[in-house]
Amino acid sequence: MTASLDATPSAIDRIRHDLVGLKMPRALEALDHVVRRLEQGEISALDAIDILLSEELTLRENSRIKTALRMGRLTTIKTLSGFDFSFQPSLDRERILTLAQLGFVARHEVVHFLGPPGTGKSHLAVALGIEAVKAGRSVYFCTLADLIGALSRAEREGKLHERIRFFCRSALLVIDEIGYLPVIPGGGNLFFQLVNARYEKGAMILTSNRGFAEWGEVFGDPVVATALLDRLLHHAVVIQIEGSSYRLRQHAELMPEHLRSKSTLVPPGQASLPRPRGRPPKIRNLQTEI
Ligand code: ADP
Ligand code: MG
Repeated sequence: MTASLDATPSAIDRIRHDLVGLKMPRALEALDHVVRRLEQGEISALDAIDILLSEELTLRENSRIKTALRMGRLTTIKTLSGFDFSFQPSLDRERILTLAQLGFVARHEVVHFLGPPGTGKSHLAVALGIEAVKAGRSVYFCTLADLIGALSRAEREGKLHERIRFFCRSALLVIDEIGYLPVIPGGGNLFFQLVNARYEKGAMILTSNRGFAEWGEVFGDPVVATALLDRLLHHAVVIQIEGSSYRLRQHAELMPEHLRSKSTLVPPGQASLPRPRGRPPKIRNLQTEI
């Protein structure tokens, strides 16, 4: 097919000038090559427009994602395609892929990843965060220690409400490493204020190596732990991973027997927490929804 576009030097110059004005650097860069292919009859005029626009769109999309990942503190890139599901047979791949469709973000639900160290909790939490960013949702990632540290600093500076508002801004808040470090005195209370502010308004992903029954100990206060779980288990998806550590997969024989693949977690249904009066927790089983 021959090109019927009037690609005279002046038309090309005008297009170049317009692409600069429209801030379309990738299309500008690709222009000469696309026009050459057009003149040689390799592509149609429609193909040429299509290539220029999609090149530009891809560049913009990539830079939007890069900025959003940086702003959301998602600096370690982990993907679902990089996750070896065969290493973790206790994990239902379909369940994770359903989460990746992000219905839980739209429904303002809480996803809990529970399991021993190295079983991929942070990997999956980050990978879902990245899926949400790619879909145009705002995401913020932090550890529980970072979050409580920031809230505690803000409280000292008289800016707690402002800081809570900041943590409520993202559509998805990922809070990693609940239970690894002892929570500072008053930290559970601050965390509760945030959880309460986000409750039914924004989605969360939480990862923990401790069962819900141990949250009283984690937060140093069983009353706060019960109030936290009351919110965090209502509209919740609980994913328990019971495998062995991916980090230690080549050194499993060097690990003490009791640490190899043991989960010390108590399944959510068996959590022996004192329940407050009122609404019982409703743990959604995703598998029954799809
Ligand atoms: P956890 O948060 O449960 O302690 P991580 O998600 O940090 O564990 O996993 C530890 C390391 O092993 C990370 O580098 C992670 O990417 C990798 N990893 C864990 N599980 C898998 C898996 N099933 N497939 C691929 N990489 C994995
Ligand atoms: Mg982790």
